[in-house]
Parts: sequence; C-alpha cells; structure tokens
Amino acid sequence: MIDLYSDTVTRPTSRMRQVMVEAEVGDEQRDEDPTTLALQRRIAELLAKEASIFLPSATMANAIACRLHTQPGEAVILDGLAHLLNYEAGGLAVHAHLVPRPVAGEQGRFTPEQVAEHLTPPSHFRPRPTLLACEQTHNTGGGAVWPLEQLRAVCSLARQHSLRTHLDGARLMNAVVASGVPPAEYAALFDTVTLCLSKGLGCPMGAVLAGSAEAIGRARTLKQVFGGSMRQSGMLAAAGLYALQHHVERLAEDHANARRLADGLATMSGLDVEWPIETNMVFVTVGRTGLTAVDLMARLRSAGVRGSVPGPYRVRFVTHLDVSAGDVERAVAIVRSVVGEFPIHPSRGAASAANR
Ligand SMILES: *Cc1c(COP(=O)(O)O)cnc(C)c1O
Repeated sequence: MIDLYSDTVTRPTSRMRQVMVEAEVGDEQRDEDPTTLALQRRIAELLAKEASIFLPSATMANAIACRLHTQPGEAVILDGLAHLLNYEAGGLAVHAHLVPRPVAGEQGRFTPEQVAEHLTPPSHFRPRPTLLACEQTHNTGGGAVWPLEQLRAVCSLARQHSLRTHLDGARLMNAVVASGVPPAEYAALFDTVTLCLSKGLGCPMGAVLAGSAEAIGRARTLKQVFGGSMRQSGMLAAAGLYALQHHVERLAEDHANARRLADGLATMSGLDVEWPIETNMVFVTVGRTGLTAVDLMARLRSAGVRGSVPGPYRVRFVTHLDVSAGDVERAVAIVRSVVGEFPIHPSRGAASAANR
C-alpha cells in the first residue's frame, strides 16, 4: 500500500526510536522532565518567542490558544476552510464558546479587506471579534503558503483593532522550507503559534504552543485543565528534538514528490489537479471520471494507493517521510490504470466551492 492519506501516517524511523529510548526523563506534570524542557526551549528559540509548551496534539494547542485570547461569546475571524473550524469537532465552540466569523479566502488565504468586513463598530448585541486565526500552510486550501507580506497585512489590521492573533502553524516548517522565510519571521506576527510534530516532521505524537512567558504560563494551567499534562514525556520530546534536527530540510523532498505526483495525475484526462502545488499536498477534482471521490478512493485503495476524501468530488494525496520518489511513480501508474477504466464525463463537481 502506498499510503498518501496524510503526513500523519509516518512511523518513527529507527534512529528516532533510538533517541526516544535513550531520552532522559522526569515527571513532566511537575516540570521535571529535562528533555521536555529542552524541547520547549528549542522551539521558543526557533520561533523567537519567550516560551513554549509541549502538548499531546496541535488540536489541543489550538484549543488552548482560543481560551487564552478570548472570553465566551466573542468572535474569531478565520478562513472558512480552517482546520480550527472544520476538523476539531467544534472545539472552538466547546472549549472557548466562540462564534466563528469565517472568511472566504483563496486557498485559505484572505485579505485585510475581508477581515475589515467583520470589524464592525462596538455593539452590545454583536459578538465582538477578539481573535484572528491564520493557518500556515493551509491544509484544505491545498497546502498553500501565505506570503509573509499578506500575513503581515492581516495581522497588522487585526492589531489595530486590538484583536489577538494566533497562527495554526501545524505545518509551519513546510512553509519555511517552501518559502525560505525563517520561522521566527512568521511567528513574530502572532501572539501564539501552534507547531505540530506528528505531521511532516515524523514524530509519533505531540505539538508545541509558543508565545509570551505570560501567555504560556496561563497555557500551563489550561494544559492541566484539558488533561494534557504528561509524565515521562521526554521520550516523545526527544523525538521532537530529533525531528527538528533531521526532518526539516528534507521536507523539500516531500514537496518535490508532491509536484511529481501532480504532474503525473495531470496527464490523466478524468482528473483536474488543483494548481499550484506549493508544499506536500495534491488535491484533485475527480468528477469527470463519473465517480464520486469515495468510489474512486475505494477502487484506488484496493489497487494499492490510499488517499483521503475532503469533498464529494475532491480527493487529497499527501507526500511524507515514508513515501519515496519511486513510490510516487508507482502510485501514478496505479491511478492511471484505475482511472483509465472509466470514460470521461463532462465536468461534474469541477473545482467549485461546494466541492470543498
Ligand atoms: C493536523 C492539523 C492540526 C491538528 O493536529 P493534531 O496534532 O493531529 O491534533 C491542526 N491544524 C492543522 C492545520 C492540521 O493540519
């Protein structure tokens, strides 16, 4: 099986497992795990923030960020396709009692003008927007990278209106490798930043939330509230430290493999690849095969390729550490043989908003 379901499917490499086994550990809940403390310092340095906190998942990091920056009944401005809004089981409502103010961005990226539409004058009957959240790279937007200047523009408008800013940088390092912009430059625009270790970085689990010492101090309490405090988490933090050293630059290979995959899929007349391919994700509209995304994916799966189904006629393939250039060539051949069995239909579900 060539598993292009997500970059979450990576298994820790044998060298990563080795550093995990050998990690120095203590009781994390008492702030006595030396490897966790080292990871937190390392991430704070990387993002040029005062502090960071190790958490079980990026979902928890985002939930804690929402709690840190808002009061119940306030509004968060974010892209309509944001992970925070669509893939965290309503966490922003459940944990922070927030009202979402979704923006129809372009591949997840929006403009100051779109933010301004939600910055209505103060009123005692409208939910008050107090948080702006951006996603870098934007997952459902196609692995898209926000240009630094566009992020700067939306964040500076938000600040002028006293909003707090949070970056869901689950795949921030993919953006860093794709753009050449240092991570701290993106992070400087935001009060808090989530970084996931279990995506392209290849760790078995874990994420980090970075911000000011004051914010992370409060996050420490919220981590306990959420049941996210751990014990000998140094074994997991060691994987994070290893990944930051060995698995960042190689993300460029994943990006090259995604382009290779997209080029291959684009030669098949039933498939509409969503360009451009900026990082490690390839989204494809499949309506012209006459099949739904679920049907096509079931057939691909029995032929040996796994992907995901983000929309009725939309499929997603993600490249990662455990997928080689050769695997991509094989995946293209498998998709070609499956798609080739079906006559081409007129455009159905072609790259439309509803398809997402
Ligand atoms: C995967 C993902 C998350 C959540 O990460 P987990 O560590 O799996 O909870 C958050 N944001 C984005 C953009 C993601 O892709």
